[in-house]
Amino acid sequence: MKIEKREKLKELYHQYEIDVAKFKKAAVCIKGCANCCIDVGNIDITTLEGIIIHERMATFEEPLKSEIKARLAKNKMEREKKVLSRCAFLKKDKTCIIYDIRPFSCRWLYSVKKCDGSSPTVHRQALNLAKNTVKKIQQLDSIGYSGHISYILSLLDNEEFRKLYLRGKFNPQKIAHFGRSHGLSINRTVSS
Ligand code: SF4
Repeated sequence: MKIEKREKLKELYHQYEIDVAKFKKAAVCIKGCANCCIDVGNIDITTLEGIIIHERMATFEEPLKSEIKARLAKNKMEREKKVLSRCAFLKKDKTCIIYDIRPFSCRWLYSVKKCDGSSPTVHRQALNLAKNTVKKIQQLDSIGYSGHISYILSLLDNEEFRKLYLRGKFNPQKIAHFGRSHGLSINRTVSS
């Protein structure tokens, strides 16, 4: 996969932060809160974001590498049963192992009121900006897919798929069964 795509992804993250800064000033989020990371039902990512995380995982030492794989497998099963659970990348101190490369789902969300078990309160304009950024990320990753973080990372664990994706090839038939059964979106169809 071309380096430019990764750079462009960073630019999209950065531009979103600039655009949303005036709204985020009112955020009450603090380091170690992690409500959004424990209720991971909506942590959807693209394959472009997934491959960056997958590559980082390959650099983890044991036993962390095996622990994260096991947590992701558990996450995937829980998600398949429609059960929400703690993100595989959340540390005991409620900070993120992959904070510097966290996906956009983890970047845009904030709240202007303490969540206390309920959903975050976000400005409507920020929500619209986030939706627009998701669309741009999907357009950038036009040979890829979007779905829950555990599903996308599971897909990228498939060597045949990963090699095809990294060569810039697009063949949705190859993942049709997994894609349908796990509700994955084809980026080029949802972002057009
Ligand atoms: S990737 Fe990091 S920021 Fe995102 S939900 Fe998981 S622990 Fe939280």
